[in-house]
Amino acid sequence: MADTIFEYAPAPESRSIVDIRPSYGLFVDGAFVDGHGKSFKTISPATEEVLAEVAEADEADVDLAVKAARRAYDRVWSKMPGRERAKYLYRIARTIQERSRELAVLESLDNGKPIKESRDVDVPTVAAHFFYYAGWADKLAYAMPHSAGRGADPQPLGVAGQIIPWNFPLLMLAWKIAPALACGNTVVLKPAETTPLTALLFAEICQQADLPPGVVNIVTGAGATGQALVGHPDVDKVAFTGSTEVGKAIARTVAGTTKRVTLELGGKAANIVFDDAPLDQAVEGIVNGIFFNQGHVCCAGSRLLVQESIADELLAKLKRRMSTLRVGDPLDKNTDIGAINSAEQLAKIRELSEIGEAEGAGRWSPECELPSNGFWFPPTLFTGVSQAHRIAREEIFGPVLSVLTFRTPSEAVEKANNTPYGLSAGVWTDKGSRILSMANQLRAGVVWANTFNKFDPTSPFGGYKESGYGREGGRHGLEAYLK
Ligand code: NDP
Repeated sequence: MADTIFEYAPAPESRSIVDIRPSYGLFVDGAFVDGHGKSFKTISPATEEVLAEVAEADEADVDLAVKAARRAYDRVWSKMPGRERAKYLYRIARTIQERSRELAVLESLDNGKPIKESRDVDVPTVAAHFFYYAGWADKLAYAMPHSAGRGADPQPLGVAGQIIPWNFPLLMLAWKIAPALACGNTVVLKPAETTPLTALLFAEICQQADLPPGVVNIVTGAGATGQALVGHPDVDKVAFTGSTEVGKAIARTVAGTTKRVTLELGGKAANIVFDDAPLDQAVEGIVNGIFFNQGHVCCAGSRLLVQESIADELLAKLKRRMSTLRVGDPLDKNTDIGAINSAEQLAKIRELSEIGEAEGAGRWSPECELPSNGFWFPPTLFTGVSQAHRIAREEIFGPVLSVLTFRTPSEAVEKANNTPYGLSAGVWTDKGSRILSMANQLRAGVVWANTFNKFDPTSPFGGYKESGYGREGGRHGLEAYLK
């Protein structure tokens, strides 16, 4: 009898819950307004279907948004007691929970990420951020006991200009807006050009929560809109997440001004597996580390450092596991790897992968059928990678894993730290003492032990070296928004 091959039946999440308008204006002073400039299209990266037209804010639009934020800051938000600000944040958090399916479907449509991630990771973590910082709004004196006089509340900075990337559109919005508002600042936020829709839905949630006009303003657009925001003289604080290159340009723009800056930039994290690690769990952690969100993750475990004695066994298990990953429709509940966010990003992933092959590394992907429309890349691993290879040094920002080996713990530390970045790292071992010793030596803002890509609003996140400066999340995340 021939072997029966069982296939998954399609399990698509309905998109009828989202109501995408044909066009969107900017969200300024509590209302949607037309921009002065042009507009641009946002598409679904899984199908290349146009989802909506979105206004492109020019300098005059950014100026109006900053003025609205300043008025709201001076007249309302900075004067409001923390316990009252907290009520708004709690209301926003609850509305996010109530509208979570809508937010998750819209995020998957505009970004290309699998619905099981937007539904189970992104949106719940977004709500958790607002709940968490709502709790701090009336306790700021305890968050930074040494900054103000005893018992006095530390003071907000003013207007925050916030620029976020496309990989976690709603989650990065929450990381930026929740602590800023809790501390009494007002904000002008620019989402990424390819993923503006959930930020605009968030603007509706601000209206639904009766947030005073001007406290949150959303200006959509491309790099020039971001530049106008960073350069605006009445912005007191710039918060940026994105590429190291743009981060450096922002640092140059604000140098010599009184603006405060936090930068959360790229990464090339080492995920280190020792010979005493529970291998099956490590394989799950490696897969989660690099294939979560198509590898569009600044803290992705993109360099696997495996102890030489177990390399063959681990790689065999990893390949077997990678062969079960399902690539395809982001709205299908069984999908593990969705679409690459844009044609540009796909071109970059392809180019670096070709460079990896040309430099002599061994390339492997499981057999997988990719949809004909949209932007797709199969889960890929490279073996025989040396530290000098570009695929071991540069952020690929896609589902591509570079595998290196080591013999001793000190060699692992040396290789892990041999990078211009320093955002995150992972350690897999049975020994608690080894975890502590590795964590002390690894030059990375976050070190995960026997897990990877775990995010929690109570935990600070940020980098060393070219991964940027400042911390987001936790009590530390408040410091970036207080005098
Ligand atoms: P960018 O750094 O260009 O984008 C991040 C944000 O900054 C976007 O909102 C972008 O707008 C905006 N921006 C672009 N130029 C400027 C500027 N001069 N001044 C102010 N804001 C600006 O990242 P890309 O999207 O171009 O991605 C390029 C590479 O960066 C990726 O391949 C990846 O390696 C890395 N990256 C890292 C991220 C991280 O979290 N560490 C996140 C995203 C990317 P717009 O989207 O309209 O261009």
